[in-house]
Amino acid sequence: MNAVGPLRQIVVVGSSLAGVRACGGLRAAGFEGELTLVGDEPHQPYDRPPLSKKVLSGEWEPDRISLFRGDEATTLDLNQRLGSAAVSLQLAERTITLEGGATLGFDGLIIATGSGLRRLPGQPDHPSVMELRTLDDSLALRARLASGDQRVVVVGAGFIGLEVAATARQLGNTVTVLEGAPAPLIRGLGVEMGMAVTALHEDNGVTIHCRVQVRAIRPGDLSSAPVDIDVRWADGADETLTADVVVVGIGVIPNTAWLEGSGVQLRDGVVCDQTLNSLSSDGSPIPGVYAAGDIARWPNGQFDGEEMRIEHWTNASEQGMTAARNLLAVANGEQPTPYETVPFFWSDQFAKRIQFIGRAAGDDDVRIVRGSVEDRSFLALYGKHGRLRGALALAMPKPLMQCRNLLLDRMTFDDAIAAVTAWP
Ligand code: FAD
Ligand code: NAP
Repeated sequence: MNAVGPLRQIVVVGSSLAGVRACGGLRAAGFEGELTLVGDEPHQPYDRPPLSKKVLSGEWEPDRISLFRGDEATTLDLNQRLGSAAVSLQLAERTITLEGGATLGFDGLIIATGSGLRRLPGQPDHPSVMELRTLDDSLALRARLASGDQRVVVVGAGFIGLEVAATARQLGNTVTVLEGAPAPLIRGLGVEMGMAVTALHEDNGVTIHCRVQVRAIRPGDLSSAPVDIDVRWADGADETLTADVVVVGIGVIPNTAWLEGSGVQLRDGVVCDQTLNSLSSDGSPIPGVYAAGDIARWPNGQFDGEEMRIEHWTNASEQGMTAARNLLAVANGEQPTPYETVPFFWSDQFAKRIQFIGRAAGDDDVRIVRGSVEDRSFLALYGKHGRLRGALALAMPKPLMQCRNLLLDRMTFDDAIAAVTAWP
């Protein structure tokens, strides 16, 4: 076990889901010392999923999306440093430096700085070329979509792209999605299921083009002028599309810049052991330093120690609490608990809930075992090397949740198909 002294002051960097749940977990486990939450956004911590759904559509106002539960904002007794970016970590001194030069000392540290947007090469800074990660992004985009008469082009058919497309279309806008891969959501769900999601969008009047290369985005001089988008289609032909609003949603990159050179091991995220204890460059656990959420890369015992970094809500919430518990456990001389999980996420598009549990790869064997793509309601199982790896549901929530036990039991693919087929 990796010794830590008594914990008097703990700093959590990243004032979002993983960070706030870490603070809740620390207090729930009895930490009574000084607890500081550092975040570079100016707002009180808020939840991101509604930003592409009910906040974007105008159905909810921002006061509905606080991450604090009940009266947590006061009972957690936090020293909040909002609008304040951490710029470096000094492990030897056990301090963090904030933008502007202030330093914070810590006995325990939880790194929860999440991920930030990837941009297209040469992506112009222009009010009509928009992105979606923050509350401010969502409110700015909502103002542009509200009239319902906009020509919207979405670049990227991942989760952001498809959720924005669905919300924009439901408001009445004309929506075209451009994706480089052969189908939407390939990395998350594979080609066949990506095509099933395409069908849902086409039913609702969204046009999705795949295997498209976006060559340039050329906004006009005025903020309200249309934007030209030069594309090369799958057959090699070139064309220029015109849009009132372009939304770029082409993935994220873990926010690790502030940790460069600190001695924390970085590899597409913060590298951790199975208990979320972050590792140093030489591979040893760093006493009292943990990571959680979009930023954490760890070996998941539930999948034979496969290293994962997950960019979804449930993982960030659970890891925040686990990192908190393990930090305190080790300081108290107790054994930390490995974070072993069957990952889960959901996405709401056109009043249909898409849910996935487990782990998918592009070359998985995918079988629809209940319902059908034609009904826009189905359950599909994912298998690899004879073992069940995941399950996807479109508008079929109950059986999806029952699949969790099959995954926890590490069932073979054939046995899982037989079991699900036999369910009443
Ligand atoms: P983040 O939410 O990225 O938070 C990290 C915080 O740290 C941010 O506030 C960031 O500004 C701050 N920060 C970064 N660097 C620094 C620094 N140097 N100093 C101080 N602060 C810093 N998941 C689902 O499962 N289902 C959904 O339906 C869903 N919908 C989503 C919709 C949208 C629009 C988005 C953007 C995400 C959605 N997700 C969804 C994903 C989910 O919200 C994320 O996985 C989750 O927010 C990750 O939480 P986190 O705390 O790890 O990181
Ligand atoms: P994402 O899910 O990684 O999808 C990005 C998509 O853009 C991928 O399909 C990617 O294809 C494609 N792409 C990349 N470069 C492109 C290019 N130059 N032209 C056209 N397409 C391109 O990321 P995201 O949709 O931007 O979402 C951002 C983050 O928010 C992710 O962490 C996501 O998990 C999270 N989020 C989650 C949910 C949810 O769980 N419901 C909802 C919203 C957001 P390749 O894969 O081939 O690169």
